Amino acid sequence: MPVNFYDAHQHFHFDQLTPHRAAIVRDLQAAGVKGVVVNGTNEDEWPVVAALAKEFPWVVPSFGVHPWDAGNRAADWLPQLRAVLESNPRAGVGEIGLDRWLLELKPDDPRVAGLRVAPLAEQTEVFAAQLALAAELNRAPSIHCVQAWGALHEVLKQAPRPARGFLIHGYAGPAEMIRNFTELGAHYSFNLQLLEPRHKSRLENFRHIPVKRLLVETDAPAKPPAGELNRFPLPPAADGSAVNHPANITVAYEQLAILRHVPLETLAPQIEQNFHRLFG
Ligand SMILES: [Zn+2]
Repeated sequence: MPVNFYDAHQHFHFDQLTPHRAAIVRDLQAAGVKGVVVNGTNEDEWPVVAALAKEFPWVVPSFGVHPWDAGNRAADWLPQLRAVLESNPRAGVGEIGLDRWLLELKPDDPRVAGLRVAPLAEQTEVFAAQLALAAELNRAPSIHCVQAWGALHEVLKQAPRPARGFLIHGYAGPAEMIRNFTELGAHYSFNLQLLEPRHKSRLENFRHIPVKRLLVETDAPAKPPAGELNRFPLPPAADGSAVNHPANITVAYEQLAILRHVPLETLAPQIEQNFHRLFG
């Protein structure tokens, strides 16, 4: 029986993938990838993501203001977000969240060049507003969290949450908080970066997360897997950085099945159900 794959979190519209788009589409179809959540991270990206969803029926669009983009949002960002969500009935709300690591970067770090970095209080305000909108429209939020797990739990506990639940993508939080997040409706997406030795304890979490809340992601073009796990290599980006091919989702499924000691053929239909419950 062929296995159907679903990528719960990536960025197909990013420049690093654009030159390879036609080949990637062919590879995804040949591999059996049936659904992909493509996350726009600021207002400028939303129309690009919406156009991709029109072109490819397997693209689930998601629109949000990422914590890295929160400081540069337009004055009317929230009405703009509501409008793009209302005209895309299947769309989720993401990528949104909290990032405390960002606040530690030096202003001359090229990763924050040209950005006004929003302090945590402002990130929280932007995140909570988007969560409330997701709850009102019952859309799936895709959450990014780095070094702000307590703050994330506070917001989730107090804010209205969508009935369908929410995704914490690439969950890298503490093991002891999983129960709290799960009670509030969390789903968790596994990616290949968690196999790196420095993420050993995070990887361990994915052995125990309830199967009904498990998803799988690439975060492509980010997080390219190392060595033989990179079954779909792409040339490096213009800046020399390695690029993750979205068809590596198949490798992520295989690795998660190995980690949980279940056959891929058993795991994949469970993930398929979870994907549809959360993303429609
Ligand atoms: Zn992402």
